[in-house]
Amino acid sequence: MPDAGSQQAHRPRRTRADRLRATLSWPNPAGILISIVGSAVVFMGAMSIAEEPAEPSTTTASSAVSATLPSSPESTARGDAPTAQPESSPSTITASPMPQPTPAPLIQGASSDAPIQQLFATGTAAPTDRLLWNIANPTSPLVLVNKHNPMVPADYLPADLRAPNVPLGSGEPALLRSEAAAAVGRMFAAASADGVHITIMSSFRSYETQSTVYNGYLAQKGQDLSDTSSARPGFSEHQTGFALDIGDATVSAACEFTFCMADSPAGKWVAAHGADYGFVIRYPMGEEPVTGYAAEPWHLRFLGIAVAQDMSVRGISSYEAYLGVPAAPDYK
Ligand SMILES: [Zn+2]
Repeated sequence: MPDAGSQQAHRPRRTRADRLRATLSWPNPAGILISIVGSAVVFMGAMSIAEEPAEPSTTTASSAVSATLPSSPESTARGDAPTAQPESSPSTITASPMPQPTPAPLIQGASSDAPIQQLFATGTAAPTDRLLWNIANPTSPLVLVNKHNPMVPADYLPADLRAPNVPLGSGEPALLRSEAAAAVGRMFAAASADGVHITIMSSFRSYETQSTVYNGYLAQKGQDLSDTSSARPGFSEHQTGFALDIGDATVSAACEFTFCMADSPAGKWVAAHGADYGFVIRYPMGEEPVTGYAAEPWHLRFLGIAVAQDMSVRGISSYEAYLGVPAAPDYK
């Protein structure tokens, strides 16, 4: 410490000391003193030089920190789009080796980018049981049954069939899955309040019953025509307990099961309001190459309100298109 003061004090005399050092040589005490003072000066100078770079080195350190923050693109991305990929690192965003980890197919069997996936991704759709989120599950209201997708097992029999409390239009007793039966009850009541009198012509049909129906067509029309108007046993939606054929109490019997039903009060009413009760017209006009069946304005399929309404809102008229699955015009 005193060296600092004395060094400062001695600094002006340094040139004289240098001159003295020329005449006073080691081990002369004056020479020793001068050496000490000189060393102190050199040391202090070195210290002050060392302090200067200390700041640049601090700068270097902070720039090193900000250099590691190039992960700040990530935080920038988060700031710009808080909901988009909150967990992913920048490398994941650019490389994205797995295109749809988040929209992993919620509905098993449907295309990963199908409209139905978007509906269920919102969390608004029924059913809530995840086991039913599978279009191959015969117990699910989402089950797909067409010429490429038969009932599995072929002799599947729904467990909760019950008779809906609605007017019958034929001698055939009506049976539907419990959920569909309740929906039919609400739908028919609403139609009745609008002055439209819908009846049930046909509903659940077992594998055996469908065999009888199909063989009846076969005997009358031959195979080609039968296959566009009736499902082979094991390929009928009626076996699910989620399908029904409607009639209209105010039209002639000749209109039942014909295109004429599309212009009947019942046909028009279900086309306009069926989705609000969970039903779609499963074989619409113009979708023959997709569904594999001639238009059936009387055949309703229960898919649940969320799905039926979503199809309606999106203007998608075939369930195949809504699931993003291939058309099924013919048996494989
Ligand atoms: Zn039908």
